[in-house]
Amino acid sequence: MSYVKGLKCKEADCGRTYPQAPHHICEYCFGKLEVDYDYEAIGSAVSREVIEERPANMWRYREFLPIDGEPIVGVDVGFTPLHRAHNLEQTLGHSEIYVKNDAVNYPTLSFKDRVVAVAVAKAKEFGFDTVACATTGNLGNSLAAQSVQMGLTCFIFIPAGVEQAKIIGTSVYGVNVVGISGNYDGVNRLCSEIADRYGWAFVNINIRPYYAEGSKTFGFEILEQLGWRAPQHIVVPMAGGSLITKIEKAIREFADVGLIEAAETKIHGAQATGCNPISAAVKAGEEIFTPVRPDTIAHSIAIGNPADGYYAIETIRRTGGWAEDATDEEIVEAIKLLAETEGVFTETAGGATLAVTKKLIEQGRIPRDESVVVSITGNGLKTREAIVGQLREPVVIEANVADFDALLSELTNCAD
Ligand SMILES: *Cc1c(COP(=O)(O)O)cnc(C)c1O
Ligand SMILES: [Zn+2]
Repeated sequence: MSYVKGLKCKEADCGRTYPQAPHHICEYCFGKLEVDYDYEAIGSAVSREVIEERPANMWRYREFLPIDGEPIVGVDVGFTPLHRAHNLEQTLGHSEIYVKNDAVNYPTLSFKDRVVAVAVAKAKEFGFDTVACATTGNLGNSLAAQSVQMGLTCFIFIPAGVEQAKIIGTSVYGVNVVGISGNYDGVNRLCSEIADRYGWAFVNINIRPYYAEGSKTFGFEILEQLGWRAPQHIVVPMAGGSLITKIEKAIREFADVGLIEAAETKIHGAQATGCNPISAAVKAGEEIFTPVRPDTIAHSIAIGNPADGYYAIETIRRTGGWAEDATDEEIVEAIKLLAETEGVFTETAGGATLAVTKKLIEQGRIPRDESVVVSITGNGLKTREAIVGQLREPVVIEANVADFDALLSELTNCAD
């Protein structure tokens, strides 16, 4: 049973509707298309109890997702931990911080497992036998893994300069990996042309309206895991700018159908200073961003011309949120801070998000007595290059107790 009415143009002054198809652009105004649901029917079908009885994965919110049949793709994706970050609260002098941790998402350790599960399910329903994507790394990892699980042919287009773990974490699945010289924006341009030419399901191009809906489950889980309530603030990393808009949509949808009380959560965006088209626009009070050429260690969020940048800015402004960016040094510091306080090893995107959270607290934009969720979207094992050489090296000794005794007294003396 599906609650999807079709696709609808996102432009407020257009709003044309289309039947479900692998399309992402409005033919009349070139606006972006979005999935349109029958919320009244969803409202009568779901309740907190119905959802709570279902397995702990992203499909427990299936009424809000655009698939027609029973979920068969990514059945173990999602429902990652949300934990109260007491140690971080103490360090930052804040009263209520939570970490939503997609660094341990299944199967490929980032939030992209959510969007890919929906995209692959939809590609199957549309009858495609080949899936493809333009990626900064994590999307490629996830699409490679999940396409193999579903027996689909797969092409991954990736900037040749991203982290080695992101290339290996794609190639290991035996799919077709095409490295492109230059940055993501060139890869994306090329893929738009290839998508038309070969008739493949490009998950973040022609399947994008469906794919993007998968991001809502990150938000749904936060709301359920907080005890069916919305936090006062959420800080979200921004690459193409889609995730941040979908987290806000998740809150609105749950409030609309009565699963939570109406909320006024402020949605804040995080970028790297070396690629900050969206945060720069917000800080300058602009509604339109200016594309940039990325230069940052945070490759997963290094998109200079973000597809949903306009909507991300709109979301931030409408909810009363703000945006900030973090330098590469601040990103590394924040990766270490999260690991040392909360035992969570995040990738560079999470470093940017925590560094920005810290700034927003210091600026008073996230008051110290208001609840905030920090969105950790990827795993640090994939971006080791960023911190190699920045950590204390292990001290090497001979395998005897005397050497250890000597070392221990040295370490203890240092601590004094
Ligand atoms: C893709 C990605 C994001 C941002 O996603 P958008 O929806 O493109 O803004 C954030 N964090 C990580 C780790 C990602 O891989
Ligand atoms: Zn339109």
